[in-house]
Amino acid sequence: MTNDLMEKVVSLCKRRGFVFPGSEIHGGLSGIYDYGPLGVELRHNIKQYFWSKFIADRDDVYGMSAAILMPAKVWEASGHVGKMGLVDPVVECKICHERVRADQPEAISDHEATHKKEKVEWSEPKIFNLLVETKLGASEETANKAYLRGEITQGVHVNFKNILDSMHPKLPFGIGQIGKAFRNEITPRDFLFRQREFEQMEVQYYIKPDEEEGKKQFEYWKNFAMEWYLDLGFKKENLRFRQHADDERAHYAKDAWDIEYNTSFAGWKEAWGIHHRGDWDLKRHSEYSNTDLSYFDEETKQRFIPWDIECSGGVDRAVMFVLMEAYTEDTLGDEPRVYLKLAPHIAPIRAAVFPLLKNKPELVAKAREVYESLKLSANSYQLAYDDNGNIGKRYRRQDEIGTPHCITIDFTTLEDDTVTLRDRDTGEQERIQISELLSKIKA
Ligand code: ATP
Repeated sequence: MTNDLMEKVVSLCKRRGFVFPGSEIHGGLSGIYDYGPLGVELRHNIKQYFWSKFIADRDDVYGMSAAILMPAKVWEASGHVGKMGLVDPVVECKICHERVRADQPEAISDHEATHKKEKVEWSEPKIFNLLVETKLGASEETANKAYLRGEITQGVHVNFKNILDSMHPKLPFGIGQIGKAFRNEITPRDFLFRQREFEQMEVQYYIKPDEEEGKKQFEYWKNFAMEWYLDLGFKKENLRFRQHADDERAHYAKDAWDIEYNTSFAGWKEAWGIHHRGDWDLKRHSEYSNTDLSYFDEETKQRFIPWDIECSGGVDRAVMFVLMEAYTEDTLGDEPRVYLKLAPHIAPIRAAVFPLLKNKPELVAKAREVYESLKLSANSYQLAYDDNGNIGKRYRRQDEIGTPHCITIDFTTLEDDTVTLRDRDTGEQERIQISELLSKIKA
């Protein structure tokens, strides 16, 4: 189960309502995906876990949400319009004129394979800007050029002064957000890995401009991000750090590391980035906007532009990697099964409630009662109610979407208020009191 793991995950995603190709009935768009009922819950839980650990649980990080549309000037200041930033080298196939990333050997060989025996000649590499451009306003003449943000980072930097003036934070402090980003990727591929519309979760952590402080904070955020990622249910050996080589790093970056996941389709691939951006962004926005973006340190009476340690992850890549890591085939009770070994805190459905038999009104009534009361007390968790088919089938259906627990109401329940609680991974069942259910599920 290596390369075909991707195929199996993509097919499960479609079959069970996690992820669909975008606007599929109309032929779709390459690199665009829509999330279904279960996928959106999984994604929500991952984002929620990010929000609580990186923002809500901390006193030193503020949350915010910037707009997707930003004026061209933002991207000139950040260096994305021009020769730096979101640009990729592309080569053009001289047979069919399709463009492919010059720095992706697998994209090149995939394309060459489509021409079978014909020998493909490639053009010289050209630089291609990945920002998605649009126009705002009624007529062509008055329309203003704007961009759909290519990264959510800049939305934080352009609000740095607003946060200083409204919240009066003391350094070091961070600003975090979650949101969509758009890149006109030349070769969108590998399912959610390289899309044209995707979501990012980030913290920009501002610190005093000091080499020692920079090293300390960088190390801290690297480890913090790794711990967080591991908590999504990854095996330690499937995640690693990788430092960017000098020629990979943006010229202003003092240091850059990725957290990589060992994918079945292409080996180690970036999941998360930790970048020491120095004072580059604030300085550039300050210059281009003629706005003072310095910070006044009350203690030392010094004024300076802070440095920024960026912690940036892809939401969709996390969803995809989590699904790939969780996908398991085993044999349970002599029958082969597929199940998602999802960490309970991110599983789309936390528990499913079943009446043993659908045609016994007293069982159905009791099962409904248990379901409704759990739902009330579980508030943010999603629960499912299922009475379709036999119990074995219901278990398999829940296993396949990663539901950690199934609760069955049977005739004994009517006598003593106990239910069976079945564990997804082992298939083992125990009898417990209804009153203990919530704490068991939460644990
Ligand atoms: P890559 O080298 O894979 O193109 P990048 O270095 O350009 O990625 P960053 O600009 O550091 O990526 O973006 C931060 C995070 O956003 C990445 O770690 C990744 O998880 C996510 N990301 C970037 N591009 C895409 C994309 N096209 N589709 C899905 N997620 C993406």
